[in-house]
Amino acid sequence: MGSLLKDAVPDLKPMSKQWHETFDQIFKGFSPDKWTLEPTDAPMPQGWRSFKDSAKVKFLCKSCGNSWTSMRGVVIFWFNKISDKPEGKEEKDQDDSKDSETGASRCENGKVYSLRFRLYGQKCKKCDNEEFKSPEWYGEEVEKVLNNVHKKIGEAFYDFPQPDIDNNRRHGRPRWSHDSSRCQACQEGQCSSNRSR
Ligand SMILES: [Zn+2]
Ligand SMILES: [Zn+2]
Repeated sequence: MGSLLKDAVPDLKPMSKQWHETFDQIFKGFSPDKWTLEPTDAPMPQGWRSFKDSAKVKFLCKSCGNSWTSMRGVVIFWFNKISDKPEGKEEKDQDDSKDSETGASRCENGKVYSLRFRLYGQKCKKCDNEEFKSPEWYGEEVEKVLNNVHKKIGEAFYDFPQPDIDNNRRHGRPRWSHDSSRCQACQEGQCSSNRSR
C-alpha cells in the first residue's frame, strides 16, 4: 500500500489528528465501551498495563534543518479502566420516561477506558541543540502500533486470543548506527535493543 514517495513527504496532518483519527477507526469496535486516547509526558501510576512498540519515524531539526529517519521510534502505551459506568449514566437513570425517545442511551452500558501514549524523541547530530526533537510518524506506522495495542487490550480486557503482534516496520536502512546518547528512549532505559535493526 505504501508508496516510496511517502518517504520524502511525511504526513502533513498534524500529529494529534493523525493519531486520533486512526484510533477512532480501530477502537470503535469496542463499543459500547468508551475508549479515549491521550498523550502523556508524566509517569503513569501503578496499576496501568503497558505495551511498548517501535516504528520507523522521521525527525526534523528546526534549528539547523537536518532531518533523519530512525528505526527506533519508540512508543509506550498505558491502558486502564476508568469507570464501570458510562459518563452521565446516573442522571439519565433518574428519568425513565425519556428512554423511549433516546433509545440509544438505554443500551449504553459500556465501561469507560483510557489509553495513554508517549512518543520518544531524539537529539540532532548535526548541531548541538540539546532538545529532544519530536518524531514524525508515518500514517501506516501509527496504524500498525495502534492495531497492536488494540490486540493487547483485546487480550487483557475482552478475551481475545493471544495476539499476533505485527513487528514489521517501514522498509529502511539507516546509514548510521543507533546513537544511544541522543535517544530519549535509550536515556530512560526504554529503547529495546532486541528488536532493533
Ligand atoms: Zn540540528
Ligand atoms: Zn535508543
